Amino acid sequence: MSEFSNESVVAIENTLNNVDRALERLRGGTYRTCQACGTEIDQAELLKNPLLANCPAHPELS
Ligand SMILES: [Zn+2]
Repeated sequence: MSEFSNESVVAIENTLNNVDRALERLRGGTYRTCQACGTEIDQAELLKNPLLANCPAHPELS
C-alpha cells in the first residue's frame, strides 16, 4: 500500500545517520579526519561528498 519501499526508508535513515555523524565530527573538530586511520581527508573530496567520513583508502568504513 505504501508507495515507499522499506529499502527507501532504510536508505533515508542511513543518510540521516550520516548527517548526524558528520555534524558531530564537525563540532568535535574531527570532520576532516579519517575515522579508520586518522589521515586528513582531502578538502576536494569533502566538497564532493560532505558526509565523507573516511579517506580514499577506507571507503567501506564510512
Ligand atoms: Zn583512512
